Amino acid sequence: MTNKPFRPATIAAQAGGAKGAGGAVVPGVEVATTFARNAAYELTGDGSYGRDRNATVAQAEEVLRQLEGAAETRLFGSGMAAAAAVFQALPNGARAVVQAGIYWGVTHWLAGFCAKRAITLDTVDAADPTAIKAALADPADLVWIEVPSNPWIKIADIARVAELAHAAGALLAVDGTAATPVLTQSLALGADISMHSGTKAINGHSDVIAGVLSCRQPELPLWRDICAQRAEAGALLGPMEAWLLMRGMRTLPLRIERMCATAQKVAAAMHAHPFIETVWYPGLSDHPGHELAQKQMCGGAGYLMSVLIKGGADDALGVAGRLQLIHRATSLGGTETLVEHRATVEPQSGIPGNLLRLSIGLEDPEDLIADLDQALRD
Ligand SMILES: *Cc1c(COP(=O)(O)O)cnc(C)c1O
Repeated sequence: MTNKPFRPATIAAQAGGAKGAGGAVVPGVEVATTFARNAAYELTGDGSYGRDRNATVAQAEEVLRQLEGAAETRLFGSGMAAAAAVFQALPNGARAVVQAGIYWGVTHWLAGFCAKRAITLDTVDAADPTAIKAALADPADLVWIEVPSNPWIKIADIARVAELAHAAGALLAVDGTAATPVLTQSLALGADISMHSGTKAINGHSDVIAGVLSCRQPELPLWRDICAQRAEAGALLGPMEAWLLMRGMRTLPLRIERMCATAQKVAAAMHAHPFIETVWYPGLSDHPGHELAQKQMCGGAGYLMSVLIKGGADDALGVAGRLQLIHRATSLGGTETLVEHRATVEPQSGIPGNLLRLSIGLEDPEDLIADLDQALRD
């Protein structure tokens, strides 16, 4: 047996070595909320109460820790709870530099939270090297980027942003939900905290809400505060969800590989389609982040793309309405391909009305292309 860390497919397939009692090759679910003490009033197991520690959650965290190449990993009850935990660990009056045009839930929650806590919130196009450099010319406490960003599909240079953030005295947190730790290792690129919504491709079956944070240096005061807050304020993931997450993750690298290959085919077909104005997908050579994505993402350009239909919002909604196979639904990263008209969901954020976001699943690429083609031509 080698001491070298295993590769992602190996870690995932065997759930990072998680086993159950009595030789079971899959773990069970630890449902107990409290643990008995012996006659001398000593604890007999690893924990005393389920909010401090749950064995199933700890097993799922260990799989993610290995996939992330992290020192420590914590699961949360949702991706938003994980993201919020990072900002909640900032002192009042801090300065946060946040990428513009990211996940709507984060953008929306942050505006209210930062106002209440007197946190200066500066938004910047983090994929623009000049803009991010200018934003980090002044000291900051935290930089938050999303790579690839959603639905603009921008690719920020994580290593470069990490350098600039550190020079400004800030920590870098990366929301890598659309990439998963299989495609992008944010911590190895210099990020201090890696965040993912486990709800998306990590679980991958559209049946669990979860979030995860991982850290490179466990002694960081911000990280210690995040861990203490999770246990004390209790933004936990339940053991059933953690178990489902572990089950979903067994096929994560396999799903990502196929989803990326299919997305590449769909993107190429849409790029060549007479009724499509443009396609934003980092796997296409005309994407501004193409070269960077090739360097920063390993094994594919992701499963998320935005297609801009020739015409306006009504035309895009017409196309979405005529799709027969692809579901009209929010979210991403599941086995089923989803389409979303983002301008309907976030009307004030400047998203083009003719934009449809696609999250490519595990269907046959020809069936997906045929469905899009019939919807575009009708
Ligand atoms: C879905 C999502 C989140 C929020 O995760 P939830 O699990 O829905 O709370 C955060 N960031 C990105 C990029 C997402 O796609």
